[in-house]
Amino acid sequence: MSTSKTVTKDPICGMSVDESSAHSVKRDGQTFYFCSDHCRQKLLSAPAGTKPEEKSHDCCGYHTKGVAQEAEDTIVKIMTKAARLIAGL
Ligand SMILES: [Zn+2]
Repeated sequence: MSTSKTVTKDPICGMSVDESSAHSVKRDGQTFYFCSDHCRQKLLSAPAGTKPEEKSHDCCGYHTKGVAQEAEDTIVKIMTKAARLIAGL
């Protein structure tokens, strides 16, 4: 492998990130790389020497598509109910 690209893993969300373009932070003598500043802040906000819990992706918009879709469905239901009330049904 003679590529200069080094891909590593975001320790917060587990996404693959390119070290040359990733958000990074040095901590405990180690350099961590992140997909976004959001994930970087998450690690920084954790107590020194610990690793924040890995949880489902809430850092990158497209990871939460399912949740957004669910919310949209709920809004549509409420709007339908409201429209019926207004129409006097
Ligand atoms: Zn991330």
